Amino acid sequence: MGKCDLCELKEYTPWYASFTQPFKFTILDCDSCDTPMAVLGAHRAAPTDEERAFMIDALSLVARAKYGADEFIIDGVMRQIPDHCHMHARPKRWRNW
Ligand SMILES: [Zn+2]
Ligand SMILES: [Zn+2]
Repeated sequence: MGKCDLCELKEYTPWYASFTQPFKFTILDCDSCDTPMAVLGAHRAAPTDEERAFMIDALSLVARAKYGADEFIIDGVMRQIPDHCHMHARPKRWRNW
């Protein structure tokens, strides 16, 4: 069934959480950026507003523990795989973007 790398998430990197309710998504370290990211469990580009809000909340919990409150931003730009919804939590001091 896998259509892209985000459909076939491999456990190369630490997983923080894998949700099945209220919808499927996973929070894990991105193996190219080395920052936490949330990946929707379905191959589509756009989440619903509810999905987006829930993913941001859950990813923010992980990012707060890792970087500290207010020390990260949620980056919803999908550079490498634009057709599968995902978002990164990046430390504010991130330089490469
Ligand atoms: Zn996909
Ligand atoms: Zn990344």
